[in-house]
Amino acid sequence: MTLARRVQELPAYLFAQISKKIAQKRAEGVDIISFGVGDPDLPTPPHILDALINASRDPANHRYPETDGLPELRASIANWYERRFGVALDPNKEVVPLIGSKEGIGHVPLCLIDPGDLAICPTPGYPVYSVSVELCGGTSYDLPLREDRGFLPDLDAIPPDIADSARLLWLNYPNNPTAAVADLDFFDRAVAFAKKHGITIVHDMAYSEVAYDEFVPPSFLEAKGARDVSIEMHSLSKSYNMTGWRIGMAVGNPELIDALTRVKTNLDSGIPQAIQRMAIAALDGPQDCIQEHNRIYQRRRDKVVAALRDIGLRVTPPKASLYIWAGLPGGMTSVDFAERLLDQTGVVVTPGVGYGASGEGFVRLSITVPDARIDEAIKRLQDFRWE
Ligand code: PLP
Repeated sequence: MTLARRVQELPAYLFAQISKKIAQKRAEGVDIISFGVGDPDLPTPPHILDALINASRDPANHRYPETDGLPELRASIANWYERRFGVALDPNKEVVPLIGSKEGIGHVPLCLIDPGDLAICPTPGYPVYSVSVELCGGTSYDLPLREDRGFLPDLDAIPPDIADSARLLWLNYPNNPTAAVADLDFFDRAVAFAKKHGITIVHDMAYSEVAYDEFVPPSFLEAKGARDVSIEMHSLSKSYNMTGWRIGMAVGNPELIDALTRVKTNLDSGIPQAIQRMAIAALDGPQDCIQEHNRIYQRRRDKVVAALRDIGLRVTPPKASLYIWAGLPGGMTSVDFAERLLDQTGVVVTPGVGYGASGEGFVRLSITVPDARIDEAIKRLQDFRWE
């Protein structure tokens, strides 16, 4: 069989080496504690599950859903944006539900990128941004996120010919993997940059509700004029522990929302309606579960940050997201460190280089690990030796 070049050229799985090692250790009977994947260990709140159970009994929900979702869901999304950010959205023109935000991130380049077109992708970054561009025949330009700039990109350093020719700029705050946050001032500057160069911005705010120390992440759409040049993706995955249910949304510029809806109509048949009912219950219902989850994550964050500092890693406690992005002392690659840590302690962290070349020198830890396992991992870390 001859596979299409776009598939043959998909990047190799960067964690292959470490995954092999994890499998080998497990086979040897080692008790592995993984800080690898950002998948909440806490369950979906009961009032959201009740909505699923009730909706599952209604035969109306046993049939094909509409791609653009239930009108009630689009209204709930718009109302949530208004309450949470003071951003008013037209639920019929500026909102489309997604089968998880990854689905929208995967499909939106089909609306913007023709073969040969350029997209600007932050590095380190969520790998789907560049892969989805490349699957459309586009090329990604690496936009480095540097520690000395708080992992915000230097938009003025992008060469003018790249800025003028690029069709799409991806942004993501609170950020995966660096856990950095952005303020409205940065978003205002990004809108000005997009307008100057005729670029569309897609802002991914999957982690906007996971925040600490009273920090409240803003929406990109709060920036003046953002709707002229951008859409924003959000997800119920991390806000309400719903990664397994697959539901998110894209909102903002009506022309791009319409294009994305048209692409989706041709490729998928929407989100199961019982799951849409869960999302309505989540967005319209009591929000105290978010504060409860964040209190748990913040406690974990503080313990893990202290333990990592104790063994000599460079860490700024994150203000948001599920991640700790820890800098290694010079001289050791992120893969070498992750392997050494796994060998000595059975603790798994993700090498930063897996998120792009600019992630070298860092490792990422996800705090979606039960407290007792975190305590055990911290005990083991105390015995870590660099030599
Ligand atoms: N965006 C970022 C930055 C992520 O880290 C993830 C998942 O980890 C997603 C989007 C996708 O989330 P979902 O498809 O569950 O909404």
